[in-house]
Amino acid sequence: MNKKYDAVVIGGGHNGLVNAAYLARAGKKVLVLERRHVLGGAAVTEEVFPGFKFSVCSYVVSLLRPEIIRELDLPRHGLEILPLDGTFTPMPNGDYLWRVNDHARTRREIARHSRLDAEAYDEYGKAMIEMAHFVKPIMSMMPPDPTSLKPADWKNLAFMGRRFQKLPADDKYNTIQLMTMSAVDFLDQWFEKDVLKATMSASGIIGTFLGVRSPGTAYVLLHHYMGEIDGAFRSWGFARGGTGAISNAIGSAAREAGVEIITEASIAKIMLRNGRAIGVVLENGDEIQADVVSSSVDPRLTFTKMIGNENLPDEFCIDLDRYKYRGSSGKVNLALAGLPDFKAMPGPGAHLRGAISISPGVEYMERAYDEAKYGRFSRRPYIDMVIPSLTDPSVAPPGKHVMSCFVQYAPYNLKEGNWDDKRDEFGDTVIDTIAEHAPNIRDLIIDRQVLTPLDLERDFGLSEGNIFQGELTLEQLFFLRPVPGWAQYRTPIKNLYMCGSATHPGGGIMGAPGRNAALKMLKDWKRR
Ligand SMILES: Cc1cc2nc3c(=O)[nH]c(=O)nc-3n(C[C@H](O)[C@H](O)[C@H](O)COP(=O)(O)OP(=O)(O)OC[C@H]3O[C@@H](n4cnc5c(N)ncnc54)[C@H](O)[C@@H]3O)c2cc1C
Repeated sequence: MNKKYDAVVIGGGHNGLVNAAYLARAGKKVLVLERRHVLGGAAVTEEVFPGFKFSVCSYVVSLLRPEIIRELDLPRHGLEILPLDGTFTPMPNGDYLWRVNDHARTRREIARHSRLDAEAYDEYGKAMIEMAHFVKPIMSMMPPDPTSLKPADWKNLAFMGRRFQKLPADDKYNTIQLMTMSAVDFLDQWFEKDVLKATMSASGIIGTFLGVRSPGTAYVLLHHYMGEIDGAFRSWGFARGGTGAISNAIGSAAREAGVEIITEASIAKIMLRNGRAIGVVLENGDEIQADVVSSSVDPRLTFTKMIGNENLPDEFCIDLDRYKYRGSSGKVNLALAGLPDFKAMPGPGAHLRGAISISPGVEYMERAYDEAKYGRFSRRPYIDMVIPSLTDPSVAPPGKHVMSCFVQYAPYNLKEGNWDDKRDEFGDTVIDTIAEHAPNIRDLIIDRQVLTPLDLERDFGLSEGNIFQGELTLEQLFFLRPVPGWAQYRTPIKNLYMCGSATHPGGGIMGAPGRNAALKMLKDWKRR
């Protein structure tokens, strides 16, 4: 391969594709190289068993930036989001908590458990919306470096300061509390019912190696809440055809803009000359020249593997070493002959069309974390399940279903044994946990795919199996992501940029890192 490009993008996950699309729309000649046989990275649909199509990793969407949907005209490229209605939490005592998108119904349901909580739910919703509005513009913003004297950084800092000043007093306090408290401590301020707090706190721990009582998890609540007010459909949903359909729509928009995309093209090295990136070398030895290289893979792969510490400043390497991955999640994808029957609400019904959350109490959630802290996967994990085939029948044969089970905790580093030996045991634990609530599950399973953090690392290039290319904790967000001083998509290597989830504003099917990075690259191009 002897062509020369303006930009070569490492990785065809959704952020790499967004990045490429924006560069090509600005007239650049762009090549995307993806290691796997299929596009999408962690936003991918694969027919794992004949006739059963799984959103293998990510399974629901809401954070995808509306401006990206609009600017890339994704609906024309096949993007269709179907509603995910609510969260059903079965309880061990045979009761349940079932929150739906219909506010009045949810309020009545919460009131069945606690009248006080039903009232607080409205207040909480309002407060979260205010805070999400405060944080929202930050998503598409270049994170200002507070140590810099550049006018652009000061302008952005001042912008944030002004926005904070404009918040009503209560929202100011709430915002500070969100940044510092644990999810449960924060929720304790509003609610009394254990099952409600446990289920709500779950979104505070997704993708982190923290428990619902660990300080800092309250902010992650907000990160996941954001889509509920800001996603194109203002709620979490399924992409028709699975999350891979989102990546394919972005890929189609990118191709239309002129991007060349090659799969099964694994990059071994980033080529350097005089401290500048000048292209990439594939595993098969092919060299591709480019004016700039944009990496959507995580910092460990980008710098340690593809550049080498010897080519990087020492300080930067120290910061890279401190960046925490600490994968804590696994995924079990089930091909089912029928629908699970929950003891708490027997028979088929609308409760199966939304998320089904195994989060019966705060202590349950915290115990699940305790085990992970000491190097074991949770014997009774938190599980977030969805059955997309109920909403989108195209993903399973007639009468059959796919069920996606996101599981926490599955620590990357096990104290005893290794994940290759423990994979089946982990899968059995997940099934046993579900069976406590839906005993018929075992009889329904036609096949299962069990993904451990090691599988996420090996198959999807997620170091230590972290689902967000690095934990979404406060010390690794905004102007600290991925490392202090390098949060503006540039790197210490000239003409090398980062554009994946390891950059601001982080993980999730959002596209914001890819777009923000492209805007930065185009600005730099003009200056050159
Ligand atoms: C199990 C799981 C569940 C999740 N659930 C959700 C969810 O429900 N909703 C949500 O919003 N988010 C979810 N996420 C997070 C979300 O999927 C990711 O944050 C997002 O998809 C990452 O996109 P990306 O483009 O930044 O990176 P990636 O998707 O990681 O893309 C990077 C790409 O680079 C490729 N690559 C790696 N090495 C090389 C190489 N050497 N050469 C060439 N290419 C290479 C990879 O194959 C991959 O395609 C989940 C993630 C996981 C793993």
